[in-house]
Order: sequence, then structure tokens, then C-alpha cells
Amino acid sequence: MELLKKLSQTPGISGREERIRALIKEELEKLADEVKVDAIGNVIAFKKGKSGGKKVMISGHMDEIGFIVSQIEGGFLRLSPVGGLDPRNLVAQRVVVHGRKDLRGIMMPAIKPVHIMTAEEAKAPLKISDLYVDLGLTQEETEKLVRIGDPVTIDREFIEFGANVSGKAMDDRAGVWVMIEALRQVKEHEVDIYAVASVQEEVGLRGATAGAYGIRPDIGVALDVTLAVDGPGSSKQYQVTALGEGAAIKIMDSASISNYKLVDFMRSLAEENQIKYQMEILPRGGTDAGAIERVQTGCPVITLSVPTRHVHSNVETINKEDIKNTAALLAKFLETAHKGDFAL
Ligand SMILES: [Zn+2]
Repeated sequence: MELLKKLSQTPGISGREERIRALIKEELEKLADEVKVDAIGNVIAFKKGKSGGKKVMISGHMDEIGFIVSQIEGGFLRLSPVGGLDPRNLVAQRVVVHGRKDLRGIMMPAIKPVHIMTAEEAKAPLKISDLYVDLGLTQEETEKLVRIGDPVTIDREFIEFGANVSGKAMDDRAGVWVMIEALRQVKEHEVDIYAVASVQEEVGLRGATAGAYGIRPDIGVALDVTLAVDGPGSSKQYQVTALGEGAAIKIMDSASISNYKLVDFMRSLAEENQIKYQMEILPRGGTDAGAIERVQTGCPVITLSVPTRHVHSNVETINKEDIKNTAALLAKFLETAHKGDFAL
């Protein structure tokens, strides 16, 4: 899990993926025939197939949700969100402001301490716009080191505990790990593989859209996390997936409907190879598959998901076996994809 730890802890909000991109590029260069970065910032690794012809695009997004500095108010910073953040997960956090150098700070809502709040004030819902960052610097020092637009990420150490691991940005560094690990495992493959670490997924699948236009794939497989709603306070009806139950094969979310022949193929493949899996229907949310599906004249797509607790929080949690099962299933798919007929 060393690589996953590095992937989780490296910063890279949407549009400012330069540091995570450098790390992923270095990893992919060890495994692919050719690696390049396109104009929007996607890393595209190409691995030639034995017979070639069919192009399979696999895509995991490298960007994470976070903030940019929107105002410098004295020695304090105000923030604009990048991606879908829930303010309830953001109280009393340590952050890193990526200014002229990395600066550690604390993030709190600009509201009164609870001791001196009126009953009315205590009831008011928290908003992202309430949050500010304290860097412990004077206004002058802050202005020297921080500019409007600088990225801000959560300062959170990756941990292993029991059967699980947890950290920030498991969405979607877990998917990137699956992609890298599958490339490591894949043996003979007939299809040409285009492994894409995409940018700007969290703000609307933008990297994958540009990537798919460039590649013109015959098959698209997105790699992402999905909701595991399997802990206290949840009911079976809303479970989506559960940790420890295996790789999730997506049937549908709100951005794409998986090609049903690809779904059947993936399910049979998991069964033949005794890879633990579960089926997934996600009522709201999407992955890069939603972009790949609709480029050019359309493309059969599917998503393989890593079940994740507390998605879009700083303690996104996955099961170590689930992520390994997802990579194993993807590797098997790449070895056998040429046998599939996904025409409708
Ligand atoms: Zn994601």
C-alpha cells in the first residue's frame, strides 16, 4: 500500500494536478511503451497489444476536491471550493496552502465559539463560505507567500487499520492505483491499451472528454470509487456497495449506463477467475465513463469501482482486498477484451 499512500498524500486539486501528475507519470513510465501528457493535462500511457486494432481506454482521475484561495483578509484566507465539498466534513481541519511554498494552516468556520452563540446561531447550517484559513502569519507575510488562486488541500495522513485503509483523495487515487496495478499484472494482451490518468473529473469529467477525443477508443473502462453505505445510520435499501464484498461492477449511475454486454462479460470474467465482486447501481454521481461514452459516435463503456466509505470526506476508507480484486479484474479484462463483442 506504499504507492497508494503516496498517491493519497500528494496534492492535486482539479486544474492544479502538476504534482500528482509528475508522480503518476513516473509510475506509468515503468510500465508502458510510451507516456505523454496532452494539452489539458491528462497523462496517457500507451501499451501496444499483440494484434492491436482494438483500442481500450482505461481511465482513473488524478484530481481531488479542495479549494483555491479567493481572498486574503488580513492574515487570514477565504476560500472557493473546487468540486463537491460538504461543509460538515470540513470543521477543525489542518490544511496545506500551496503558495510560493507549502504552508500549513488550520481551517475553521468564521463563527462564534459555541459558548457564546445564541440558540438561533447554533441552529444555522454551516456553509463553505463560512470557512477561513489561519496560517499563523501576519498580513504582510501572508501576502508575500500566498496569491489569490493558490490551491489548498487537506493535510491528512494515510493510515492502514484492520482490513482497511483511509486517507484523503482516495477518490480517485484508489482508481489510479487500480490502473497502475493492473498494468503491472497484465501479461499477454491483444488490444492496445491507453491508460489515462485524467484531470478535472470532479468539476465535470473534462479531462476524460478531451482524452477520449484524442484516443477514439473502441471500449472505455472508468476506474473510480463508489459509495459504500454500509455503516451505522444507513439502511440496506441505500447501501449501493459494502466494504469487503469485492470489486464493484457498475450497471448505472447518473452520468452513464454501462454497456450491458460489457457488464455480462465482466461478471463472467470475475466468476471464472474467482475474483470477489458485487454489482453497483449508483443513483447519483458519475465517472469518466460518462464522458467516454458520448465522444465521437459513441463508445461502449463500463466502470469498475472501489467501494468507499465516507466519499468526499478527509477519511475516505476502502478495503485492501476490494482494491486488489478490482485491479485483478481489470488485468483479466485487458487480457481477454479482444474476445468480447460489445456491439448493440
Ligand atoms: Zn471520483
